[in-house]
Amino acid sequence: MRPIATLLADEALRLSGLLFDLDDTLLDHGRLPETAYASLFRLRETGLELMCVTDRPAGWGEVLVRQWPIAAAVTENGAFAMVRPPGHHAERNRAMGFCLFNNIAIAAAHARARGVERVAIVDYDVHHGNGTQWSFYEDPSVLFISSHQYPYYPGTGAATDIGRGRGLGFNVNLPIAAGGTDEDFELAYNTVAFPILRQFRPQLMLVSAGFDALDDDPLAGMRLSANEFARLTAAIVGIADEYSSGRVVAVTEGGYDLGGLASCLRAVSKVLSGETSMSDRREAAPNADSRRGRATVDAVLPELRRYWQL
Ligand SMILES: [Zn+2]
Repeated sequence: MRPIATLLADEALRLSGLLFDLDDTLLDHGRLPETAYASLFRLRETGLELMCVTDRPAGWGEVLVRQWPIAAAVTENGAFAMVRPPGHHAERNRAMGFCLFNNIAIAAAHARARGVERVAIVDYDVHHGNGTQWSFYEDPSVLFISSHQYPYYPGTGAATDIGRGRGLGFNVNLPIAAGGTDEDFELAYNTVAFPILRQFRPQLMLVSAGFDALDDDPLAGMRLSANEFARLTAAIVGIADEYSSGRVVAVTEGGYDLGGLASCLRAVSKVLSGETSMSDRREAAPNADSRRGRATVDAVLPELRRYWQL
């Protein structure tokens, strides 16, 4: 098996062009430990910027892409940032669950600071994105939608956690019982997540792209196919095309079976780059068992109907 760095670099280089302009000024960030560095990536074409954290000073983009398991590939309107360590468990003041800094939350906050009024984050990692949730729990400008195995690590992510204060309704948890299938996820996303995303009309779509809900993953107990990650991403891209001028930035989170991770990265890369067409994406619509997804929908809808038309 190829080392993961090579794998990710190959995937990134396969996508169009090279790749991003890198502003190699290291940011002055008082709380970073000596072994970690935050770098600001300015994505060519879009002007969009994305903060990434590495454990060595980031050099030029090409070096980063070729030699380190962090890569960013730019599609027409967005990017796929392959980042290690993952980020969505990291909270404002503590590292947690393999995560040092919350890459996606930093990206969302950065976009907000740059004048983007509505940012949506979809997190399909198998674990609840507690750090991302708490980062924007009272903030109606950042919609956070997380699907996750529940109950499971880190213990948060109940259907009743829907935000607080002005943020009520803008935190959407889709807790799904262990054993969840493509069909369960399709039902939960199509019934709850995607209608809310459309009503929110995000100007920027961010994806916490964790692949540990994959059937082969050694950590969790879900049974998703790589194709399902492509399908979910395709639907997100479709909504971004409609409301966000196609702006999608996906950032990797978990994923612990290397072969499975490669399949998922490949499948999602193809969707983000447009290599997989819309008709391909919809081809294999699932239709079998979805009782876990139904239970999720039944738990979530009463909480969210006060805020969204569902
Ligand atoms: Zn995870």
